[in-house]
Amino acid sequence: MSDATEACMSKGLLLVFTGDGKGKTTAALGTALRAAGHGMNVLILQFIKGSWHYGELDAVKRLETVTLRTLGSGFTWQKENLDEDRRLAREGWRQAREAVLSGRYDLVILDELNIALSYGLLETEPVVQSLQRRPEHVHVIVTGRNAPEALVAAADTVTEMTAVKHHFRDQKIPAQKGIEF
Ligand code: ATP
Ligand code: MG
Repeated sequence: MSDATEACMSKGLLLVFTGDGKGKTTAALGTALRAAGHGMNVLILQFIKGSWHYGELDAVKRLETVTLRTLGSGFTWQKENLDEDRRLAREGWRQAREAVLSGRYDLVILDELNIALSYGLLETEPVVQSLQRRPEHVHVIVTGRNAPEALVAAADTVTEMTAVKHHFRDQKIPAQKGIEF
């Protein structure tokens, strides 16, 4: 096999899962499971902490090569706490940037980073530039609604989830264990 063919076969990708339908975070977790099966090192950084105890927090403890970190206490989205939200987002991004650029992980998942970007808690341009400077083998997945245009432009794969129906929106059926948390 020529060097060129080999290089083509292994290329760190930038993937974005966005849109208002369900499935963005779970698609990323599914990819983490797939990569873990190959013994790949995976880091999952969650930029927003929900109020549920998510099943994945315990599930990944059983996977040797997968690490999951929840960044800070989660955003509040209230005007009076904007400075604190910004501080948490910046600190989260500092960790994310270091992890992506270090090359220590084969796959880095930045869950809900799009939310921090679309709320203006972080500047999009430097984030996109850092992601583009990642080592050749590093895959990155960014999830969350309202992916900024510059990130979509830089990505190799962008999937927009569409809420054709959603049980909560349409039938007021609450979140279910194992499906949503
Ligand atoms: P999941 O974590 O289930 O893959 P997601 O990452 O695509 O969902 P988020 O935007 O992070 O979705 O929202 C998280 C929560 O909001 C989930 O519990 C999900 O079921 C719920 N949700 C997603 N889309 C909708 C919608 N269109 N209407 C109401 N609730 C929604
Ligand atoms: Mg999500």
